[in-house]
Amino acid sequence: MPPAAPTTLGSDRGAFDAIVVGAGPAGTSAALALAQKGFRVLLLERGDYPGAKNMFGGMMAYCPAPEELVPGFWERAPWERAVTKRVLSVVGGGSSTSLVFQAASDSGRPSAGGGSTSDQTLTGFTLFRPQFDRWYAEQAVAQGVTLLTGCRVEGLLLHDGAVWGVRIAGAEDVVEAPVVVACDGTLSLVAQQAGLHTGVRAEHVALGVRALYALSEEGIDERFALDGREGATYEFLGCTEGIRGGSFMYTQTETVSVGMVLHLDSLKARGVPPYGLLERFVASPPAASLLRAARLVEYSAHLLPEAGTRMVPRLSAAGLLVAGDAAGLCYTNGLIQEGMNLAMTSGLLAGRVAAEALAEGDLSARRLARYAGELERSFVLKDMKTFDRAVDFMREDRLFTVYPRVISALMEDLYRSDGTPKEKIGPLARRALKGELPVRALIADLFRGGRGYL
Ligand SMILES: Cc1cc2nc3c(=O)[nH]c(=O)nc-3n(C[C@H](O)[C@H](O)[C@H](O)COP(=O)(O)OP(=O)(O)OC[C@H]3O[C@@H](n4cnc5c(N)ncnc54)[C@H](O)[C@@H]3O)c2cc1C
Repeated sequence: MPPAAPTTLGSDRGAFDAIVVGAGPAGTSAALALAQKGFRVLLLERGDYPGAKNMFGGMMAYCPAPEELVPGFWERAPWERAVTKRVLSVVGGGSSTSLVFQAASDSGRPSAGGGSTSDQTLTGFTLFRPQFDRWYAEQAVAQGVTLLTGCRVEGLLLHDGAVWGVRIAGAEDVVEAPVVVACDGTLSLVAQQAGLHTGVRAEHVALGVRALYALSEEGIDERFALDGREGATYEFLGCTEGIRGGSFMYTQTETVSVGMVLHLDSLKARGVPPYGLLERFVASPPAASLLRAARLVEYSAHLLPEAGTRMVPRLSAAGLLVAGDAAGLCYTNGLIQEGMNLAMTSGLLAGRVAAEALAEGDLSARRLARYAGELERSFVLKDMKTFDRAVDFMREDRLFTVYPRVISALMEDLYRSDGTPKEKIGPLARRALKGELPVRALIADLFRGGRGYL
């Protein structure tokens, strides 16, 4: 077990080359990358254990970063199911229309040599953050990282604009180190204190609410048509009562995560309590049959970045690097929700740049700015830039109100069989759109959507 938080860290002064704030996926990756280069790393986590305060929807998209840091990572990590089925549903007027992706059987499972047995269809893994984050931090401890839990960083030590350590709440002394890596999540007090951003704005973040339901493993396999350790992710558009956002259901081994990700400004404008919204979704047709007789285990809520690269702050300063959600590196474009893989990869890159800078004895702002270049060259910032327009498009209210109704009306007409003559899709679509939105608005949305995704 990691040692408890000391009341004083005075005796540790000068004992560490680097301090990492936050033992989530970004922080543990940064700590591992530094420790592997032989540096003495202090990893500080405010929770009673890593993962204690962390939750997410449930699927981590595959990325190679953790395999570079922990040998045999995917064979040993406590993941729940390998995702082979992804379902996207549009819900409106009581009916739903779904697009189902079913990967080739056995794809997505890690092979003995790392990676997957079928890289072409590899998607990712569902996991539990309290178990996963704890296990991952234990790998860092095994590689020499000093982990202190129950330690909340409450301030930075700054001199002439350079960071040289942190203050810990309740501790009498400070902890010094030539470099600090901030991985303290969406609100990042550390990045804010260093002047890298001026605080999070409601239009840049979403509130995620999640309920966890217990079901037997066989029950999940049967209801979601899964086999062995196969898993499924279900995303729903149109069941957030007009609030910008979406709902999800992800399968773990013996539990199902059900939740919503809601744009905070849209939620505030509507003044609807999020848990009531989630309860109504759980009781609604697409979810209710899948969750029949399932037992509610817990509720949780968390903020996540949602504004694409617009939210990414300056990524470094003298003596400081920022990674993961703290750097706004998380996005959803309505089809894909990614954050964990971006957190691990950015943490790895931040740790490596910090290690090189330590080896050269140059922790200047100019030297550490190379981290931004590393992120630009990686899939992290490339993917975020690729989908920036799609992320913007997701701020269009009509996507969550008008279009789900129009798609449902069109599909109902298409499949209606009542002894009257059938019509082609064109006239059916015109009828579904009538009174819902002007053709000009439809063309504008098709254009914007096309630029976002095509
Ligand atoms: C509802 C929801 C659904 C999501 N679904 C998905 C998904 O399906 N797939 C996906 O990839 N991503 C998803 N995400 C996003 C994903 O959870 C994040 O991108 C990821 O956790 C970021 O990792 P991180 O290490 O940067 O930050 P975090 O996981 O937030 O970790 C930060 C750590 O820092 C600690 N900390 C914070 N402040 C301090 C302090 N002052 N001192 C010490 N410690 C501190 C925290 O306790 C925490 O352990 C979802 C998020 C939510 C909320």
